[in-house]
Amino acid sequence: MHIAVPTYAAHVLDLLTRAGYEAFVVGGCVRDSLLGRTPDDWDITTSALPQETITALGDIRTLETGIKHGTITALIDGNPVEITTYRVDGSYSDNRRPDHVSFTRSMREDLARRDFTVNALAYSSAAGVIDYFGGMEDLSKRVLRCVGNPELRFHEDALRIMRALRFAATLGFSIERETAGSLRRNCALLDHIAAERLCSELMRLLCGAHAAEILCSYPEVIARLIPALPACSGALARVEPTPVLRLAMLLMPLSAQDAAAALAGLRYDNATRRAVKALLTHRTAQVESTKPAIRRWLNRLGEQPLRDLLAVKAACGEDVFAAQAILNEVIQSNDCWTLKALAVNGSDLQALGIPAGKPLGDALQALLDAVIDGELPNDRDLLLQKIKRPQN
Ligand code: ATP
Ligand code: MG
Repeated sequence: MHIAVPTYAAHVLDLLTRAGYEAFVVGGCVRDSLLGRTPDDWDITTSALPQETITALGDIRTLETGIKHGTITALIDGNPVEITTYRVDGSYSDNRRPDHVSFTRSMREDLARRDFTVNALAYSSAAGVIDYFGGMEDLSKRVLRCVGNPELRFHEDALRIMRALRFAATLGFSIERETAGSLRRNCALLDHIAAERLCSELMRLLCGAHAAEILCSYPEVIARLIPALPACSGALARVEPTPVLRLAMLLMPLSAQDAAAALAGLRYDNATRRAVKALLTHRTAQVESTKPAIRRWLNRLGEQPLRDLLAVKAACGEDVFAAQAILNEVIQSNDCWTLKALAVNGSDLQALGIPAGKPLGDALQALLDAVIDGELPNDRDLLLQKIKRPQN
């Protein structure tokens, strides 16, 4: 079995082995390569201690990103490579992170601490794939299985519950029976995990190609994160996999207010919260298929949010074809729907004697309204004329 390790990562493996250490690419990059997917990043596991790694890398720039846990990041031609010393995790008292970690010279011990068999694979061109826990077989059957006893592994770190669902949703894997039973039984442990970590896993899960199936198959997990949410439907799959659209579909059974509260509880960023709330607020509002109506919606929401609103409506069975076509026309012809794009500005009106403050604001808004409604073209001279002759 051959894996095409990029030259920058292969160079690190080479330097470490030439210095007398063991070194392999490991985890997600091996899994993804064997699945024919392009890995996001290449991680390396090595018998070298962090200081030994730094010495072995010579002139290569290194950052001590997680040195306490044995991780340093090497930068090669701008490519970051995380290099972690073989490690055993100590006891876990908080279902989150080990109380301490210790280094080991045994690669098997390092692979044994990893979450799933398909993530516990390592590779080097000299040794081929190293597989102590049946990861290759699970990969070929497309199965996620904990390394070791699932009860123990989920108690050590409950984030693995979300990781299991996330990998299942993104890779289209099933979850092995004991692993699945254990994660269902233990989903209350998710209460111990920081909201930010849950939220990032949930996002990746929701954007997975198989998100709807996974959410419907493991309702107890999602209910733990968002207790107010009634049983999940498959509607999620009807929108593109962007965080805002997928969250809006997930939270559709809730009021906009409750959805926003659920997202705040999960520490979602403000922009995401606002965007999802806007979609749920307007999802039943009428969007007329006329240029003025579309320009008005653009003024209210902005382009991407309006596109998202139409996508949500379409996913709910509304025919938005005409509205989408008009939206495209309005965008292509560069119509004006914001004060910023209006052909006159505040100083123009002040020069005509309109006092600053409310009168100025009102006059600009009136001009913008007329342009949005198609009553006036967005033409500087014509707009200024309109101001000079307010009786018209
Ligand atoms: P992706 O990069 O697509 O998220 P990945 O498998 O590379 O997938 P990372 O979070 O980058 O995931 O972690 C790298 C490797 O570290 C994993 O493949 C796994 O071996 C190990 N790992 C990560 N998180 C955990 C965890 N919570 N428990 C046990 N092992 C873990
Ligand atoms: Mg990774």
